[in-house]
Amino acid sequence: MTNPISLYCASLTKYKRYKTREVFVGKIPLGGSNPIRIQSMTTTDTMDTIATVEQSIRMIKTGCEYVRITAPSINEAYNLKHIKDELHKRGYDVPLIADIHFTPNAAEAAAKIVEKVRINPGNYIDKKKFQQIEYTNEQYNAEIARIRERFSPLVNICKIHGTAMRIGTNHGSLSDRIMSRYGDTPLGMVESALEFVRICEEFDFHNIVLSMKSSNTRVMVQAYRLLINKMEAEGMNYPLHLGVTEAGDGEDGRIKSAVGIGTLLNDGIGDTIRVSLTEPPENEVPVAISITKSINKHSYNTQSLSAKELPYNPFEYQRRKSDRVGSIGGSEVIRVIADLSNQAQIGYEQLSEIGAAYLPDLDKWNFSDQTPDFVFIGDKKIWIEIPNNIGVIANYQSWLTFKTQNNIFPLLKNEQINKIKDLNTKLIFVEISPNDFQNVILKLADFKNIILVLNSDLQNDSRAQRKFFIDLMNNQLVFPVVIKNKYSIENIDEFRLSAAIDFGNLLIDGFGDGVWIKTNDAKKLTGINRNLFGILQASRVRISKTEYIACPSCGRTLFDLVDVTNDIRKRTEHLKGVKIGIMGCIVNGPGEMADADYGYVGSGPGKITLYRSKEVVRRNIPSKYAVDELVGIIKEDGNWVEKLK
Ligand code: SF4
Repeated sequence: MTNPISLYCASLTKYKRYKTREVFVGKIPLGGSNPIRIQSMTTTDTMDTIATVEQSIRMIKTGCEYVRITAPSINEAYNLKHIKDELHKRGYDVPLIADIHFTPNAAEAAAKIVEKVRINPGNYIDKKKFQQIEYTNEQYNAEIARIRERFSPLVNICKIHGTAMRIGTNHGSLSDRIMSRYGDTPLGMVESALEFVRICEEFDFHNIVLSMKSSNTRVMVQAYRLLINKMEAEGMNYPLHLGVTEAGDGEDGRIKSAVGIGTLLNDGIGDTIRVSLTEPPENEVPVAISITKSINKHSYNTQSLSAKELPYNPFEYQRRKSDRVGSIGGSEVIRVIADLSNQAQIGYEQLSEIGAAYLPDLDKWNFSDQTPDFVFIGDKKIWIEIPNNIGVIANYQSWLTFKTQNNIFPLLKNEQINKIKDLNTKLIFVEISPNDFQNVILKLADFKNIILVLNSDLQNDSRAQRKFFIDLMNNQLVFPVVIKNKYSIENIDEFRLSAAIDFGNLLIDGFGDGVWIKTNDAKKLTGINRNLFGILQASRVRISKTEYIACPSCGRTLFDLVDVTNDIRKRTEHLKGVKIGIMGCIVNGPGEMADADYGYVGSGPGKITLYRSKEVVRRNIPSKYAVDELVGIIKEDGNWVEKLK
């Protein structure tokens, strides 16, 4: 199958920035050949000038190049002047961005004060009523005319004052018009922005930046790709602001942001980024900087690839078709291989570190939801009996020495593949590099028990690995493939982000039936294993824990998001697969947590409204009972399990 699609990036095989037009935000331009700009958003009350100024300064000191501040009403919009003046007085002239939802008058006031305004096309003109309406073309055009009338004053103010504008679509807050026509889809997100962009162009206003955010990394990546595709078709080249909304906090929030933002940056897409964590904004900036540094810009692959050779649709998720070999490939979940080959010995302690704990008193094993499916032991001996649900992989020569080879499988290198015909075993792992396609792969075509281990001899160049997957598909080769990357861990935080980007951008496209990390660090077994499961969850290919869709908080936030998120996490973190939205305000919260099974939303000072999916189930209850009530609702639904001690 070949899709006659246009490319969504400058190159699929080499790192090349997708060239957009330059847009000035105050004195700091973005897009064109400018570096990728870093930005973040304050969480203080915008009416509290000093707190907002001081938080902005802390953000600037960590490397924030633009500061975004919410302006929910005209009063906050006017107060941006005081904030700006105070920042200038203290020697900071960082460009400010006003964040607007619902209130055109606040946008029009702010656009005369700050360097950029952000509007959400889903709620700038329209109030959401969750109505499904069938529009005729005439009715649809009448709606666009209504938008033009309400939106054009802001465009004119921006033109006069040299103010930039971000038209920022959120997956969770699309208008009823867009939802009715396109549904809750990447295409709907793109059209939501383009309706507004076309009006800007009618008024010859081009100081525009676009974004397509979602808390679902897959939807987010597809929407940005589709946006480029559609912009190209309409002769547009506006810079792109990248972000994953409601990424959460801690390790999960960082991994999720790296998977979404990093996948696009890796393809040269993106001109400015904001990492949204449920943490103080000054924590977001270093993560954003590290993500930009973690992009692998080395292109080891010299071949180019045209859109016509792409055997899959990059705008829609579909897992690459592979044969099921044992428990790998086909429709099996993506398997995790823990590398124990650098452990001094392999015993109960090491297995316990990866979630398989032996309980001697009961003579049984206890497995966590993040126990790997295979362990690789290299040439090491094992002194204990490994439980049957964990497969063992050993180097070929060592494998030959095992007396019983039940549940132990050989790993062969390139030069050993002539031995395959003599092997009598259910699974044979064959390690190859992306460059081995021509030399090796066709020699394996007749064997049905092969699992390829695609290594990273090319320094984790996922573009080279992607090319390998494309070659497999174009040759109708359906071997299951385990992606194996190699890291030398000097800094665990940087390692975490790099791994999330390298694996995430392949998993998002449906590539890979297993994942494996090799490192120089024998002590980080637990962290590496957790990281792999975190990447699978963030890429939405294997769910092994509760997912929190927590907003990053802003000046509208009605409770302490960090404390409440921790509280909810403590009570619910064992509920594998349950998605809980934790949103600071009722104005945007319900829309933003579109994907969640349950929602905990601030609806007034000390008041919380609880949701089951999109339905309100407790309205305005006192916050001190709200977490208990949330747990009660999960129990009512039969989704509760008791925590294992
Ligand atoms: S959902 Fe959170 S970040 Fe979004 S507007 Fe409300 S409080 Fe601010």
